[in-house]
Amino acid sequence: METDLLILGGGAAGLSLARRLAEQGAAAPRTLVLESRAAYVDDRTWCFWMQPSARLPHLVRRRWAKVSLASPTERVVVDCAESPYAILPSGGFYEESCGLITQSERVRLAMGVRVLGEPRKVGGLWEADTSAGVQRARWVVDTRPPAVPAEGAAVLWQSFLGVEIESVGPVFDPAVAEIMHFTEGEAGQILFHYILPLSPTRALLEVTAFAPAPAGPDVFRAELGRLIQQRLGERPFRTRREEHGILPMGLPLPKPAADPTFVRAGLMAGGARASSGYAFQRIQRWAETCAQSLAEGLGPRAHAPDGWILSRMDALFLQVLRRRPELAPVLFLAMFRKVAPARLARFMSDQGTWLDDLAVIAALPPGPFLRELFRPAPGVVRP
Ligand SMILES: Cc1cc2nc3c(=O)[nH]c(=O)nc-3n(C[C@H](O)[C@H](O)[C@H](O)COP(=O)(O)OP(=O)(O)OC[C@H]3O[C@@H](n4cnc5c(N)ncnc54)[C@H](O)[C@@H]3O)c2cc1C
Repeated sequence: METDLLILGGGAAGLSLARRLAEQGAAAPRTLVLESRAAYVDDRTWCFWMQPSARLPHLVRRRWAKVSLASPTERVVVDCAESPYAILPSGGFYEESCGLITQSERVRLAMGVRVLGEPRKVGGLWEADTSAGVQRARWVVDTRPPAVPAEGAAVLWQSFLGVEIESVGPVFDPAVAEIMHFTEGEAGQILFHYILPLSPTRALLEVTAFAPAPAGPDVFRAELGRLIQQRLGERPFRTRREEHGILPMGLPLPKPAADPTFVRAGLMAGGARASSGYAFQRIQRWAETCAQSLAEGLGPRAHAPDGWILSRMDALFLQVLRRRPELAPVLFLAMFRKVAPARLARFMSDQGTWLDDLAVIAALPPGPFLRELFRPAPGVVRP
């Protein structure tokens, strides 16, 4: 089959681009999204700091005007009403995106189709082998993760396991999201708990680690059990769903393809912010730009690289976390205690001004950063 554009992978990035194209009406290229899953399930939640420019605000389930961070000796509660912390469940996003695509005459989604290997250029068109035969197109946007997460590929990996639970009777304070409550991890690991209360009886509880090596869900089960026990005691509860993720922190951008008609995008291809691994709003902004370019006949666009200052700040921050993981509670608590919440939220959402950057730098103890400035970065193997 031949079309204008193939989108390989219909997750956050693939569907975000597809729904933007569906909104372009007749201006959109004829598009086919190939997704290996047979059906979507509510498999993850996307959190971000609510900025005026945040995309898809109508899909947000809850916003918190207060967040807390804690080390074993200190707790900081931050009033972030100006830029609340927001959670957007993937289930609503998948459903709305599929609805928009179904209504489009130009964009089609094929579920349960696996793309096999790398597409190749034959006679001016890209050809992709799939479990449903060969597909051909003028342009390709590949959002499949290009490689399995592995030690040495990123400076750090953020791995986590979370459960959304419902307790019998009220337990949680829905006013405050606990975003980083540090606890003791293994050597070289930064370990913290994350509790997002959705109501007095319902919450997402997660155990997260930043470490040089990625970790599967089973590594966190015992600690997650302890966290639930700590909060609920003997109170009965029901598990509504589970989520596990491995996000890159400081993953080198893939080399752009020699042919600009083929582009990689998504979490592992520039979608994730280096210092946080967060990607959802970055992916939304990319999807908008890429869809616009395609509708104008200019072809697909990759994620724009971060500016030099932001990249250097993130790289140095990760370098310090990697070499001195024991400093993580001090650094994060200092940032949230000293920087005005709206400034910090802009900085973390890639929308910071140079004054925001300066405020973040001024909040951090200079010693560890100055020492790292003159040391080589921890080795990351370029793909
Ligand atoms: C549990 C979890 C929680 C997260 N929480 C946050 C958060 O709070 N905030 C934030 O900003 N980011 C978060 N992220 C990070 C990021 O936003 C998500 O990973 C996001 O889904 C990345 O989008 P993507 O399109 O790159 O990857 P995915 O959404 O994983 O999409 C890739 C798609 O490609 C498909 N695919 C793979 N191989 C093939 C193949 N061979 N053929 C066809 N299809 C294929 C997959 O089935 C999948 O649908 C989270 C990630 C996870 C996993």
